[in-house]
Amino acid sequence: MEEKVKNTPEEEAMIEAAYAKLKETYLNSNHRKHIDIINKAFRYAKHAHAGVRRRSGEPYIMHPIAVAQIVAEELGLGSTSICSALLHDVVEDTDTSVEDIKNLFGDKISIIVDGLTKISGGVFGTQASAQAENFRKLLLTMSEDIRVVLIKMADRLHNMRTLGSMPPHKQLKIAGETQYIYAPLANRLGLYAIKTELEDLSFKYEHPDKYVELSKKLEATSNERDKLFADIKQPIREKLAELGISAEIQSRIKSVYSIWKKMEKKAIPFEEVYDILAIRIVFDCPDLKEEKQHCWAIYSAVTDLYKPRPDRIRDWVNTPKANGYEALHLTVMGPDNKWIEVQIRSRRMDDIAEKGFAAHWKYKTGEQDDSELEKWLQTIKEQLENPDSNAIDFLDTFKMNLFASEIFVYTPKGDIKTMPQGSTVLDLAFDLHTELGMQCIGAKVSHKLVPITYKLQSGDQVEILTSKRQQPKSDWIEIVQTAKARNCIRQMFRKEYHTLIAMGVKKLQEFLKKYNISDDHDTVNRIIEHYGEPNKDEMMYKIGKGSLDLQELTKTMFKDKKSSRWVKIWDLTFGKLTGNNNNNLLNNPSKEETKKTTKNGLKVTENNKNEDGNGPKYRIAECCCPIPGDDILGFLDESGVYIVHKRQCPVALKLKSNYGSQIVSASWETHRVLSFPATIQVKGMDRIGILGEIIDVISSMLKINISRLTLDTDDGLFTANITVYIRDVEDVNNLCMNILKIKDINAVERVATDKAVLK
Ligand code: MN
Repeated sequence: MEEKVKNTPEEEAMIEAAYAKLKETYLNSNHRKHIDIINKAFRYAKHAHAGVRRRSGEPYIMHPIAVAQIVAEELGLGSTSICSALLHDVVEDTDTSVEDIKNLFGDKISIIVDGLTKISGGVFGTQASAQAENFRKLLLTMSEDIRVVLIKMADRLHNMRTLGSMPPHKQLKIAGETQYIYAPLANRLGLYAIKTELEDLSFKYEHPDKYVELSKKLEATSNERDKLFADIKQPIREKLAELGISAEIQSRIKSVYSIWKKMEKKAIPFEEVYDILAIRIVFDCPDLKEEKQHCWAIYSAVTDLYKPRPDRIRDWVNTPKANGYEALHLTVMGPDNKWIEVQIRSRRMDDIAEKGFAAHWKYKTGEQDDSELEKWLQTIKEQLENPDSNAIDFLDTFKMNLFASEIFVYTPKGDIKTMPQGSTVLDLAFDLHTELGMQCIGAKVSHKLVPITYKLQSGDQVEILTSKRQQPKSDWIEIVQTAKARNCIRQMFRKEYHTLIAMGVKKLQEFLKKYNISDDHDTVNRIIEHYGEPNKDEMMYKIGKGSLDLQELTKTMFKDKKSSRWVKIWDLTFGKLTGNNNNNLLNNPSKEETKKTTKNGLKVTENNKNEDGNGPKYRIAECCCPIPGDDILGFLDESGVYIVHKRQCPVALKLKSNYGSQIVSASWETHRVLSFPATIQVKGMDRIGILGEIIDVISSMLKINISRLTLDTDDGLFTANITVYIRDVEDVNNLCMNILKIKDINAVERVATDKAVLK
């Protein structure tokens, strides 16, 4: 793969220039000037990688230099990290050993390089759980030295920036993994700038057309925003000058990915995303004690000029986010009569927000530091040390904690605890102390008695009530949310838990047999999807316990198929499998073909068994129900069936990271479609005649038929789920737009599946 070619004089000059820039960045920083060891690391790495090239054709050494540049410039780290970044691939890719690094560069650097080597190698491995396992290793090392994970972030960022030179199927996989693991991790570490860039780059490779379209629109509207910014800025600047506050006023443009996410979520066109521009005021405040006072002085100055929206103040100065983010956010009415967000931060807060905890160290004074990050790392360590958790389960639990937004509760003494959203009294009890959890019988929240199942709300003051006679129960596992509580309970009832899983497996087998449904991997996966359970064990446990009703399946998933109107005609193209040959599945030559196109007019019925038996078998995933026009991918499952998901489907994201080698790109070729079912949800005010107007809009649109409609009303508001037969995404979008024009309709969106309607 890698050819050894000598560098040309131009390339030599390019390498030296890149390195000179790195040195300059370092020397301009506040760090101690350990330039000698950096020089040594650079010469060593350059020599070790000599003659090797990256896929783009560049000399390999350009990559470690670029990673070191990110480490120095964007993360603000010092010489140890810069050396480690320069050396991060030498153990992995050359004859150098960790021992060599230790002898030449000392303990610290060799530990970091060793950590980076351990988590590199198989990140794109073929084993199903390889990535989860690697991720576990990553976090283990991370709790030893956070610099390992920061350098890994820089490595990933550079690889994403240069992803263009990879073949398309690898791009998709790497982009998916970035979106699934690295961007949320960056967010959790408080690396906002990097998180935003990673998301944007992933989006660019996953939805290339939309990326180009939105970038163009953003470009075309930039003059308007510049003018608005100038109009808003001038009076603020004058006012701050009067107050004697020195500050920089910056314009912040929403990223392409965030714009797209908002459009999707609210089903609105680009033109209606009103918060593309935000204003950021970064003030200088050498005396840290005066920061808070300055924030509110600026708040007061801004609101003298522009009317604030009272429900949109976010005070992260008094209560920083768990990842360390501090700032004061408000929304004001701009001169164009539109709401605009204003962020107020000190220079220190801004540094921490952009560079994360790395910058935190810069401001650290005296002994500390019981920071939130330390606590977070501690919980991760506890998880990792639990020998029982299998890797994928671990990743799920970890992800759950990573994504869940947080709530704040108070202890009776007034201390603040940060918990994931949805946490119960029992979670808090276990979080405070295992013993407290085991004896918990309830709590007092604002002087009222609540049961252990009570879901905590932000701001609750909670006093845990215990009894020595309380006995933990195995079904507590269904009450708790947090990994810590779950692990404690699981430990106590390990035996019982496994018995129930075995019972669940048996019950399901009997059920499938009784209804003559084939008992294969595909069926089981579909049932997991149907119930929305996180994994097979969890589902089997619930079936075993009887808390999932299998009979329900006969009314929904396995309903008599003849009554269904699902008849579709379209073509699907599947791309290359990305994995390599270690995987048994891929040794089967019939599945190894690079491209398989179904024949024109192939008929596919609901369960998508292909009629003539040729071509790939596939089915449409029930979790996201893609229709022609959606960006999709195929996942080849163990039974040889391609499952077609939307690219942004959360289930697909997970598959991409855990089973990347079984992912194929897929696209709708031509579609001469009779009709697809799609469900839209309409919310609005419940007034006389409104339903009639909705139905009028639907039936006036060509070739759209309503197949099902359910209506819920609650206190003057209604929610309607309407399943319609349409041809493609464009139909649905047009339909949503037209319904939105009706008076008193507040929201219209396509919902993932018509499952909600069936229930
Ligand atoms: Mn690398």
